[in-house]
Amino acid sequence: MQERHIRVAKFGGTSLADAEQFRKAAQIIGENPDRRYIVPSAPGKRFGADIKVTDLLLSLLKKDVDQSKILDAIFARYDEIIEGLDLSLDLSQVREDIKKALASDIKHPECYVASRGEHLSGLVMAKFLGFEFIDATEIILFDAKGNFDAKSTNSVMSKRLSGCSNAVIPGFYGAMPDGTIKTFSRGGSDITGSIVARAVGADLYENWKDVSGFLMADPHIVDHPRTISTITYRELRELTYMGATVMHEDAVFPVRESGIPINIRNTNDPDAPGTMIVAHTDRMDLQNVITGIAGKKGFCILIIEKEMMNTEIGFGRKVLSVLEKYNVSFEHMPSGIDSLCVIVSERDIAGLEKQLMDEIMITAQPDVIRLERGLALIAVVGRAMKSAIGTAARIFRCIAGEGINVRMIDQGSSELNIIIGVEEASFEASINAIYRTFVK
Ligand code: ASP
Repeated sequence: MQERHIRVAKFGGTSLADAEQFRKAAQIIGENPDRRYIVPSAPGKRFGADIKVTDLLLSLLKKDVDQSKILDAIFARYDEIIEGLDLSLDLSQVREDIKKALASDIKHPECYVASRGEHLSGLVMAKFLGFEFIDATEIILFDAKGNFDAKSTNSVMSKRLSGCSNAVIPGFYGAMPDGTIKTFSRGGSDITGSIVARAVGADLYENWKDVSGFLMADPHIVDHPRTISTITYRELRELTYMGATVMHEDAVFPVRESGIPINIRNTNDPDAPGTMIVAHTDRMDLQNVITGIAGKKGFCILIIEKEMMNTEIGFGRKVLSVLEKYNVSFEHMPSGIDSLCVIVSERDIAGLEKQLMDEIMITAQPDVIRLERGLALIAVVGRAMKSAIGTAARIFRCIAGEGINVRMIDQGSSELNIIIGVEEASFEASINAIYRTFVK
């Protein structure tokens, strides 16, 4: 007997923004019978100034709003989709349920209202495809404290889905043991898709968006950056940590554990191969060397100097104990013989600057401590860097060529990334210089 392959296909908000987008999604699903489990988001923006359905739903909880007007706007969007798809589907019960919930004292009302967007999308999609609708409250489980319960979810979900060859499962939410609806953080339908992919042992988790994959750099900074064709989970983590966005960060964990690749695809350009996110790959881009560049502004450096610091055992611990006390995490900690720099985010230390410095002064007794602001960090990430001699030299040469001063350097021990710190004002120019140097 031929082995049956399984793909889980998740469609984001812009991929389901109106009837036409629903049709495109359905066409994609119909083209490959392996696409058996579908995870929809709530309809997103149709044009720049449009409002996402999830945001409309959340606005129901604001003070002094006309709830029935907002409900009209929300249901008008679904009615338009239903009409555009020539379906006959009555959603009035869901509207009644929302009204009832708004009038009563439910737990986590923001989760409840926000979840209805995916719920409604799921009902429409299931009807349009002729697939079974399985409510996420049945198979995505949170514990009594509201934390996602991965173990129970996996066993309940795999059992439920093993008896069902095709299903639509709304993204973004699940239920606590008492039935209270709980959502993941915003953008969380990505996580649902990943959880479903693991539970059914999918060969591939397809994440359909409105972009043709993960770009090598931020398109707001670099003009038309190239799409990354293959990236490892580790590289992805480095880039998303430094601000690149393509998918919810937590969506990687469930599939990563079971080695299921993720394919980021574009609903509006289904022939484009998109980006493959994999556990390991032998495919090295030795021509471009780097996989991607990302970065963030808003960091500062605590510069701490003390004569004979190198011989003082426990100096670093004393400094870090103060950061720990104030719940401040550090990003990097390059050091010299008699000096230590601690890079922290401006946001983490806002309002605490003086206290922190005073306390480090008392605890570690340095000769000098000062704070320099306005640092931007840039991560140059690439698995091929390990085998390409001179990568660091090329980065520094091109930055120097722009007349930019590098204020900090840090290379991860895995040689997967090189992090540099520059003045915030030089951030964009540095990224462009690096991109131009490496990407052919
Ligand atoms: N609809 C939710 C949001 O806008 C979840 C999602 O789309 O993934 O955040």
